[in-house]
Amino acid sequence: MPDTPSRLIADPVGDPAAAAPNANRIAELDELITHCTACPRLVEWREEVARVKRAAFRDEEYWGRPVPGFGPADAEIAIVGLAPAAHGGNRTGRIFTGDRSGDVLFQALYDVGLASQPEARHIDDGLTLRHTRITAPVHCAPPANKPTPTERDTCRPWLVRELDLLRPTLHVVVVLGAFGWQALLPVLADAAWEVPKPRPKFGHNAHVELSSADGGSPLHLLGCYHVSQQNTFTGKLSPEMLCGVLEHAKELAGIH
Ligand code: SF4
Repeated sequence: MPDTPSRLIADPVGDPAAAAPNANRIAELDELITHCTACPRLVEWREEVARVKRAAFRDEEYWGRPVPGFGPADAEIAIVGLAPAAHGGNRTGRIFTGDRSGDVLFQALYDVGLASQPEARHIDDGLTLRHTRITAPVHCAPPANKPTPTERDTCRPWLVRELDLLRPTLHVVVVLGAFGWQALLPVLADAAWEVPKPRPKFGHNAHVELSSADGGSPLHLLGCYHVSQQNTFTGKLSPEMLCGVLEHAKELAGIH
């Protein structure tokens, strides 16, 4: 796969499938991801957004690169969305940070004791997560929040490797939204877990226990409506509903 010209990345990683298995630690993986230029349309878009900016952020320097996962390398719970937001993670360099969806998510994580503070404004704001890592099947902000199937598949090896590395401690994955759910199931099958056929359906509070393909620990998959404004402003997803899913995840992971 050819490297794509990027104005921001001098030493690009052009082939996630070749690069991801080489990462032996989460920190190494995160670093590699930030150099990825495998999807031409997304490189163009993330850098264009970073150049043009939104008026409210015109004095800020946008990140404009792939956004890696965030949280401890020995997390018991993973939270999986779909992709970073153009003026959120793509601006701040940390997933769900600096946008309305993140405001709702981090408040809930704080309320259930999984985050050190209720707000995530920028990458140096001191926020830390406990027992929890947030990541995504697509690491670059896509136009209209919609990655193409090819982009989703190209990015998959990063998340497969991340789950491999988290596996010794990971018990639960909370999936935010149906798109994330659909994108995650093949990743889990490529990692270490048996995904039933027909594939389990997404729903809020959906709960599926996946056995491991190699005799390891099972993984609990929990569905939760996405924390998008479309859901939170309309009341489809209330803070209580989100906290309820997170409390269930804690219980399944044995976190008290
Ligand atoms: S979406 Fe994933 S594979 Fe595509 S350029 Fe971004 S990090 Fe690389």
